[in-house]
Amino acid sequence: MKTQEYLSEYLKENIIESETLHRMKQVIGEFGSRAPKILVTKCIDGRVHGSKAKGYPPTTIRFGRTDGNIVSTEKNNYSFWNRIDSIVNNAMCNTPEMPAIFIAYMHRSDKGFGCAAHHNNEEESYKAIQNQTREISKLFPSDKLYVLQGITNTDIMAETLIFDESIRISSKEIINDFSLKNLSDIFHKGFLKYPIKDPATARFVNFKTPEELCSGEMPLFHADFQTSLSMKSFLLLEISRIINENDFSSQKLVQPDVFHAILSVLQKVKSLPKTLLASFFYQSFWNISYAINQINKLNSMTESEQLKIIDHSEELICYGDGFELIPRNKTILVKTGRGDDYEALQVAKKVLEKNRAKKNPEYSKIIHINIEVSGEEMSWEDFNENISSKVHTMLRPVDEIFGESVSILTTYSYRDQKRFYPIRTINDNRIMYSTNIIDKINSSLLFSSMALKSREALYATDKLI
Ligand SMILES: [Zn+2]
Repeated sequence: MKTQEYLSEYLKENIIESETLHRMKQVIGEFGSRAPKILVTKCIDGRVHGSKAKGYPPTTIRFGRTDGNIVSTEKNNYSFWNRIDSIVNNAMCNTPEMPAIFIAYMHRSDKGFGCAAHHNNEEESYKAIQNQTREISKLFPSDKLYVLQGITNTDIMAETLIFDESIRISSKEIINDFSLKNLSDIFHKGFLKYPIKDPATARFVNFKTPEELCSGEMPLFHADFQTSLSMKSFLLLEISRIINENDFSSQKLVQPDVFHAILSVLQKVKSLPKTLLASFFYQSFWNISYAINQINKLNSMTESEQLKIIDHSEELICYGDGFELIPRNKTILVKTGRGDDYEALQVAKKVLEKNRAKKNPEYSKIIHINIEVSGEEMSWEDFNENISSKVHTMLRPVDEIFGESVSILTTYSYRDQKRFYPIRTINDNRIMYSTNIIDKINSSLLFSSMALKSREALYATDKLI
């Protein structure tokens, strides 16, 4: 596949995903209103991409990403601290009874495919996240921002959460301790047999019983976006109800051993605000289900198929924000906020070149720069300030690290929509995608927000046909 064709296919997939997101907006909104505001930082590694393993639907979680999760915590690292201020203020204004959550993740692998930025050294990986959490805790009290650490096992996507640098809850250990083999093993028997009582959830999962959703080679519980999303919202609601009613012995949702295993660890964490207990319970429970699903998936594969999942197989580099809908292990994700984007891009380049040497694809090296905005662009000044000028500034480190030997896709997206709109706002031969949303309206004289809106709509419909 040639570059132009590759990009066209890539943008089309994005539009389809964004349509699904749009259809499920209401359910995501419900989930969001029950969940705490959460910010996660992690590595640019494509294998730790996405929020699926955490049980948070796209748009309900914010990310920071740098090579090996290394950041400068100097106060002049504006984008790093600003991301934290944004989430803390979001919680203060919208969920005043629940502090925001910050989790810094490292990643590791039992099979030896660890973090490239730390040369597979787990102690170094841990130091990077410890540096962050310690510096942040100095500035924010835990009733404003609850800070903890996490580890992702990229082989099976199991997570370990580390509270107060000492108390650990590990999905993999719980899976092993109770010999959990199937998704249905983690639910209470009484829950599995009958259709879900909540009418909206029942409708979204086509009136199937939880047992039916959990069975088969590709259980719908994780494989189908709509099912998975409605189960997330339902489980967060139910778990919050059980935890808040404090009537643990009569709960009929979670398998009792698993229930007590999760709860007993969380209850040991003295620093944990009561209002966050349910959401951490939910996150651990979801991750156990996700890891079981990954383990079963891997077990059904040949060794070379397994390698595609557990080793790097990213196809391009994404630089900026708004890439949440892209599947895991498809792209290496670099965000601003390290204090030094050059270093992050350098690591990304190395990983990409290694992957390309293995596969030797027809399309060229690609960097996708996306700027995510949260509101509408009402004037050309808005567009310049929020989008074009940022793209131009971000092109500079790309020039430095990649020179001429790269194809660049420049786009913007809206935070709640996650649809990439291609633009070309600067004369640069490396920007090669043919569509340009801002073409012929790129000045204060020519621009109008109506014109931009209609260009965006036209682009999306064209792509969908
Ligand atoms: Zn890494």
